[in-house]
Amino acid sequence: MNTNVTDAPLTVLGGGPAGLATGFYARREGLAVRLFEAADAVGGNARTLQLGPFRYDTGAHRFHDKNETVTADLKALLGDDLRRVDAPSQICWQGRRIDFPLAPYDLLRKLPLSLLGQIAWEQLSIPRVSDDAEHFREMALESYGPTLAELFLLNYTEKLWGADATTLSPRVAGDRLEGLDLITFLLEAFGGTTDKARHLDGSFYYPKHGYGQIADATADALGHKHIHTGARITKLAHDGERIRRVTINDAEPVGVNTVVSTLPLTLVLRLLDPPPPAPLQSLAKSMRFRHLRLVVLGLDRPRLTPNASLYFPDRSVPFTRLYEPKNRSPDMAPDEQTVVVLERPCHPGGEGWEQSETSLRRQARTLLTEQGLLEDGDTVVASTHHAVPFAYPILDVGAEAKSTRLTEYLRDFENLYLLGRSAQFTYTHVHNLYAEARRLTKRLTASSPASVA
Ligand SMILES: Cc1cc2nc3c(=O)[nH]c(=O)nc-3n(C[C@H](O)[C@H](O)[C@H](O)COP(=O)(O)OP(=O)(O)OC[C@H]3O[C@@H](n4cnc5c(N)ncnc54)[C@H](O)[C@@H]3O)c2cc1C
Repeated sequence: MNTNVTDAPLTVLGGGPAGLATGFYARREGLAVRLFEAADAVGGNARTLQLGPFRYDTGAHRFHDKNETVTADLKALLGDDLRRVDAPSQICWQGRRIDFPLAPYDLLRKLPLSLLGQIAWEQLSIPRVSDDAEHFREMALESYGPTLAELFLLNYTEKLWGADATTLSPRVAGDRLEGLDLITFLLEAFGGTTDKARHLDGSFYYPKHGYGQIADATADALGHKHIHTGARITKLAHDGERIRRVTINDAEPVGVNTVVSTLPLTLVLRLLDPPPPAPLQSLAKSMRFRHLRLVVLGLDRPRLTPNASLYFPDRSVPFTRLYEPKNRSPDMAPDEQTVVVLERPCHPGGEGWEQSETSLRRQARTLLTEQGLLEDGDTVVASTHHAVPFAYPILDVGAEAKSTRLTEYLRDFENLYLLGRSAQFTYTHVHNLYAEARRLTKRLTASSPASVA
């Protein structure tokens, strides 16, 4: 490992999509790179795991075709293994399946007339001032009207984030509600189908062997000799102007030149030596992440649903979403069997986090039976459980101002760059991270041609 500061390569902390993309683009720009990842494998929160003959992702992932250059780069990395998928998602509502994104014709067929009348009236009469809404509840009510918001948005959002919608920023919706505005809704109502692909849930790319293939292909292209797994960053020593050394697994510190950190923003503050001013430390402590637990069930039947994802907005259901990997790529399970994954959001130390695996699995099975998806005779041939920590930065009202303060403090270190979902404390997606990594490495190349490998 290089310990000479002056000719140290670009040091990337974290081997999730943001770190891998940074390493990949940096190498493509000709920069020398070394990447440190705490886990024994790369991919972060976007990995694919194996359970016997089944493959599943660490959360329901899609690759969104939103950035031409990034999509082209991924096509070059994955070749024919990157396929376009058109798989509809649905919401489970009172024993019915409602299309998601919401579609007027579908709602007409599935909702009672009284509700439809209410929704139609609200769609035409509500004031639309949602751009400056103070919190998610206000945004949802103003954008969709009370009926649609209460039926499908507020309950789901509160369950996902584990917080009252009045405490959540309107930005928690991310791009998920794109294309669900009144115009799209009316266009579809009067003009037949519109292009639902605009919405993140409709049409997407997905690799043949699971979403983690994106991370794996990026790591291959970056070069495994530049990647150090099992390398947990335990300290970031600085002199107030630059990060000087990183400590890995509490061993001898390593000298660094330019550092790109994709670690959670709040963790970076904790790792700094000397520590940051006390007010910033307490600010960092007040910022939270939502964690996830996954229940994975392998089933002795060819399919359970036709959907990419099934959503459960009902507050009494502990899970938010079910996905069936085979509906994204048939190679995720054998022909005659399938696998499903249920997502249970939790706060660390909270009820869901502490719940035993057995009880979680029982709840999953009960839900599938109640929803009419599983019958008593259906056999679960394999099952497992997986925890996804730091799944979502909790964007409560005020979180943006807090993360801006922390980021501004860290920006004063002239050789430190932050990139990533938890690193920037923002609800972003993989295609954005690749695009940002590409931009960042171009900037770094332009500013430090001396570090070219
Ligand atoms: C359930 C779910 C569904 C999602 N669906 C989609 C989707 O459909 N499409 C999409 O584009 N995005 C989706 N995302 C978002 C996507 O997974 C994230 O944006 C992406 O994983 C963020 O990448 P990252 O590199 O910023 O962070 P992470 O993936 O969290 O990677 C951070 C890495 O840093 C490592 N690390 C942490 N601490 C240390 C340390 N001290 N030392 C060294 N390494 C450390 C971690 O082990 C990890 O590998 C989803 C996320 C979740 C949770």
